[in-house]
Amino acid sequence: MAENLSRRSFIQNLGVGIGTTAAAFAIPSIVSIPESKPKYEGRKLGIALVGLGSYAKNQLAVGLEKTTNCYLAGIVTGTPAKAEEWMKKYNIPKKNVYNYQNFDQIADNKDIDIVYVVLPNSMHPEFVIRAAKAGKHVMCEKPMANTVEECQEMIKACKDAGVQLGVGYRMHFEPFTKEVIRMSREKVFGDLRFIQSNFGFRIGDPTQWRLKKAMAGGGPLMDVGIYCVQAARYVTGKEPLAVTAQFGPITDPERFKDVEESVSWQFDFPDAVTVNGFTSYKTNIEQLFITADKGFMHLSPAYSYGPIKGRTSQGDLHLPVVHHQANMLEAICKEFLETKQFPPHISGEEGLKDARILSAIYEAAGNGKKIKLV
Ligand code: NAD
Repeated sequence: MAENLSRRSFIQNLGVGIGTTAAAFAIPSIVSIPESKPKYEGRKLGIALVGLGSYAKNQLAVGLEKTTNCYLAGIVTGTPAKAEEWMKKYNIPKKNVYNYQNFDQIADNKDIDIVYVVLPNSMHPEFVIRAAKAGKHVMCEKPMANTVEECQEMIKACKDAGVQLGVGYRMHFEPFTKEVIRMSREKVFGDLRFIQSNFGFRIGDPTQWRLKKAMAGGGPLMDVGIYCVQAARYVTGKEPLAVTAQFGPITDPERFKDVEESVSWQFDFPDAVTVNGFTSYKTNIEQLFITADKGFMHLSPAYSYGPIKGRTSQGDLHLPVVHHQANMLEAICKEFLETKQFPPHISGEEGLKDARILSAIYEAAGNGKKIKLV
């Protein structure tokens, strides 16, 4: 039964949801989205979602109904029936609906400020680059791309076109996550010693793209392990120095013909901080545990859609519960409207750093050697 849980139902069963910074991470302010929308008189940014799958439908579109400074202005889909359904539901005019072939005509559409790519991982580079060439700012889902080279091409395309590029690292804006980042960086419990970060779920449909290496780039590491990598980076504010890693056993050879079933890894971080990570498509697990000289911090759930729960050695954390996608989009658009830039901690360069680290984890698990990252 649990075997057949889809990713979505797993997340719903947890009663939470899933997502994550780096050396240049400036802790952003909490943008809490109230249940009823406050009055907003300023400019609203029009967002077009590319790919109307589960994340676009159940999270981003729902979030965009709660935001004040941006709205769902357009859609890009290969399925005409979905186009009809979304046009009706979200009052989207036909002129703002594209398919994958005529997508480039979005260049002429003044309603669309930001194109948000929510396609399977292998399709991110093509659509980010086409959006950039159309002169649109681009948000891209995680992982930014399956390879380091593709991330570099996407960054170059956006730079050449003079458009912003951001990765949908929603945990960067989430209050419990930000509080743990603050406490870690400010050494509230002293120097950090050890971080354990785990994220896995029991994957459903054996035919889905997430189990095909050509589309997903890999298995759970690309999909949810990336949250653990991000957490290590945003909590410490540092970059890992080296990594060792081990693939777990394959217990379901039919499902895991192409991608890993699970992988564990160990990072050496500066200041003698050790980080252990684990990700799996066969194990329901989700936690971020940080121990320091004078106490600990613990988030569990730590990465799903919420509510995130947290406690420290001094007691439970009580913080606002936000809709992750609304909270993220409101914050990104606020910064863009004020500065003409997306927050730097979600930049394409951040996505590229993660891609390098994910690739090193696969290399280390493959050859059993310690891979240096600097
Ligand atoms: P999904 O399978 O539910 O949706 C994928 C969409 O792409 C579908 O609408 C499908 O029709 C379309 N598509 C177009 N060409 C396709 C092809 N050749 N094969 C398969 N689908 C094709 O996937 P999803 O869960 O919505 O994930 C989409 C992206 O969003 C992924 O990059 C994923 O990592 C990311 N994601 C992020 C979060 C988060 O919390 N930030 C959560 C879930 C997914």
